[in-house]
Amino acid sequence: LAAVAWKAGQPLVIEEVEVAPPPAMEIYIKILFTSPIDVFAELVSRGQKPVFSWIFGHEAGRIVESIREGFTELAPGDHILPVFIRECKDCAHCKSEESNMSTLLRINTDIGVMIGDGLSRFLINGKPIYHFVRTSMFSKHTVVHVGCLAKPPKGPIHIVDALSIGIPTPIAAVLSLAKTATPESSVVAFGLGAINLAAVEGARITGASRTIGVDVNPRRFLEAKKSDVNEFVNPKDYQKSVQEVLAEMTDGGVDRSIECTGNIDAMILAFECVHDGWGVVVLVRVPHKDAISKTHPMNVLNEITLKGTFFGNCKLHSDLPVVVERYMNKELELEKFITHEVPFFRFPASLLPNKISMASGLRPVLVVHTK
Ligand SMILES: [Zn+2]
Repeated sequence: LAAVAWKAGQPLVIEEVEVAPPPAMEIYIKILFTSPIDVFAELVSRGQKPVFSWIFGHEAGRIVESIREGFTELAPGDHILPVFIRECKDCAHCKSEESNMSTLLRINTDIGVMIGDGLSRFLINGKPIYHFVRTSMFSKHTVVHVGCLAKPPKGPIHIVDALSIGIPTPIAAVLSLAKTATPESSVVAFGLGAINLAAVEGARITGASRTIGVDVNPRRFLEAKKSDVNEFVNPKDYQKSVQEVLAEMTDGGVDRSIECTGNIDAMILAFECVHDGWGVVVLVRVPHKDAISKTHPMNVLNEITLKGTFFGNCKLHSDLPVVVERYMNKELELEKFITHEVPFFRFPASLLPNKISMASGLRPVLVVHTK
């Protein structure tokens, strides 16, 4: 069974789907938990026009169902974390310590087929259904390339599931790129949705004492308080610019700034609010495909560092298990990001413009039992 997106803007439909056997370098997997995201809405917000029909989904906790002979790194029954970033271990990016953007297995949201033979593994009545970022986790069973599977240290899989994309991206971004040097450091997060609160969680475990949240939705402040955001700025409450407000609060600018909204104006704000000399700004979320940003070059010359990150600059095999270990060692709190559990048959309804996010002001991480 899979939740199929037949048409733009229509609810997903649970369908019987035939899954073709995996060729070499691909693995057949059973999904235990997945995190629903309205992928279509995300793509449209970035100016993309997806071609239908798809099986979306790029966050899940899974179990290996079958392995082709000769592949020894995984065994049937292994718990794994499929991730849309990959590591082929062979290209210049994979060999570089600085990059996680594999040339061979680079993500492409426009291509709905598998890399080996250019075909889909999903069929309904003999007609192919596209894969999404070659993961397609809104399905009880799927086929993925071995290069996008991490084998994390053993932990509760429905919690560790939260680490397959949305949550580790900002956490890893903060840990690897925006390290807070002293306990006095200040970190500002733009937007206070789940992704941004994960950035705050990353800042918390690096020891930052001041975490400031900027959001125009005051309802989000209540949730954010539980996540160690200790100061708030609502731009609507001020006549002056957010840059000026933050500069006054922090004696010249914040030390680290994380932008997780993908909004181009917020990106500029995030860049222009850090302290000269040592400020670091990290951009996490993907903006609209036509978005263009503008800032004064002096901002860069004033020794501010601007960093872009893809999946938090986290490498699949070497970095992601470390994030899981931090959770297992109780340094990192993940339970707070698991907001709901629904059975698979209610899955399409859970994706509709939902009451949950309206109520809390947060994008929820829902966990769906697919057993
Ligand atoms: Zn590679």
